[in-house]
Amino acid sequence: MSPKATIAIHGGAGTLSRNNISPAQEAAYHEALAAILRAGEQVLANGGTALDAVSLAVDLLEDCPLFNAGHGAVFTSAETHELDAAVMDGATLKAGAIACVSHIKRPLRAARAVMECSEHVLLVGAGAEAFAQGLGMEMVSPDYFSTEARREQLYRAKASSVTVLDHDGAANNAAPLDESRKFGTVGAVALDVHGNLAAATSTGGMTNKRPGRVGDSPLIGAGTYADNRTAAVSCTGTGEMFIRAATAYELCARMAYGGQSLEAAAEAAVMQSLSAIEGRGGLIAVDAQGNVSLPFNTEGMYRGQMRIGDAAPQTAIFR
Ligand code: ASP
Repeated sequence: MSPKATIAIHGGAGTLSRNNISPAQEAAYHEALAAILRAGEQVLANGGTALDAVSLAVDLLEDCPLFNAGHGAVFTSAETHELDAAVMDGATLKAGAIACVSHIKRPLRAARAVMECSEHVLLVGAGAEAFAQGLGMEMVSPDYFSTEARREQLYRAKASSVTVLDHDGAANNAAPLDESRKFGTVGAVALDVHGNLAAATSTGGMTNKRPGRVGDSPLIGAGTYADNRTAAVSCTGTGEMFIRAATAYELCARMAYGGQSLEAAAEAAVMQSLSAIEGRGGLIAVDAQGNVSLPFNTEGMYRGQMRIGDAAPQTAIFR
């Protein structure tokens, strides 16, 4: 078995909380990330595919209310939820995505179904929901995604008339990154023992976004990309800028056509190209050799990585 099979995950990027966070509160985030990394590592250690490892990791991140995807998703300006998700298989360049859905309990699974059970790449809104329902996927009332913390976050955003990233800004809750101004997307990238790469991303988007707005997460090449020849990438941040920079694809193009290492390509995509248009956030990336890069231009990003056989996962929030 390849010793380099690896998984990396993120739970959003943003600015430091202005609240005093107790060690126990911070530890809850590390523990959540570590448990999810362990679950993904098990899939890879048992010879499972990168696609299955990232799918499981994002399922678990969607379920965790600490992060902004699935249950705990942010609100639009109309006090509704609109979720986006995407998955890509680096071995075949097949991809699937859904956007603007509010009744699909597991958005990432629906994205994977678009990849595996349709001839399309991206389905949106009512059509995406009908597709998922037709496959017998679990549907929920939009309230399932709501939490009081997210509703208060919307009211604060409305009071200041801004569209905000989920982990960014002044907040009253006890999170290491500021819950009103954090980018709350979740994502996973992995290399499996067969040498295949995969990436997955899922999000509620940005608090106070206009209904109908789609961010970078479900757009292949913007927020999500995977190609065995280069890297698997999942982004989090101000989606509009990631779309304009085609950030996930740019990283892979720098490696393919510019001969850059994963580290150099990831740093340049975030610190140069994205920063040049005032994009904020970060990404996680793994290449076919199992190198991992986790750059961000915000104060923090919930993140972690684990290689098969590691005694413990590595998790981090701040620089
Ligand atoms: N990139 C996501 C979006 O623009 C937001 C995030 O990362 O939290 O929808």
